[in-house]
Amino acid sequence: MKVKKVCLVGDFAVGKTSLVARFVNHTFSDRYLTTVGVSIKTKIIERAPVGELKLIIWDIAGEDKFSRAAERYLHGADGLLVVADGTRSETIEVAAQLQAQALALLGDVPVVNLLNKADLQAEWPSELPPAEELTDAEIYAQIPTSAKTG
Ligand code: GDP
Ligand code: MG
Repeated sequence: MKVKKVCLVGDFAVGKTSLVARFVNHTFSDRYLTTVGVSIKTKIIERAPVGELKLIIWDIAGEDKFSRAAERYLHGADGLLVVADGTRSETIEVAAQLQAQALALLGDVPVVNLLNKADLQAEWPSELPPAEELTDAEIYAQIPTSAKTG
């Protein structure tokens, strides 16, 4: 079976751990439990044409800049999920910084930007930075997500 390492990065409390819980366990909690260091979960998915694929999902504790420890967690990542919180536009700048730092370490791995808490879209500021500031249209996508509603 093919194995891929996917890392979630982003500011504190944007919903990284919640997105993993939604994806792996189909659950959501309103409680905020800070992730210390890193949390690793696995999930096997089935995707044509690859067939079964084992995802090793690394949920890396948020900071505006990666610590030396976090840099080690990123090592060997096959792809990145860069998460921001649509209710806090400053988390988008943090996401862009973390993305640049991660790509400098990893080279050109595929990146998807997630703008989380889409269930609170009414509370999103009217002026979110344009997606182009965060993304390279060639390989990146920006997707609104909600760990709460799935
Ligand atoms: P992390 O620090 O990035 O891992 O963030 P967490 O996953 O711990 O989530 C931080 C807080 O945001 C928690 O209170 C979650 O319940 C809440 N949260 C996470 N995702 C969503 C979402 O999609 N919608 C809403 N409304 N709250 C969310
Ligand atoms: Mg967390």
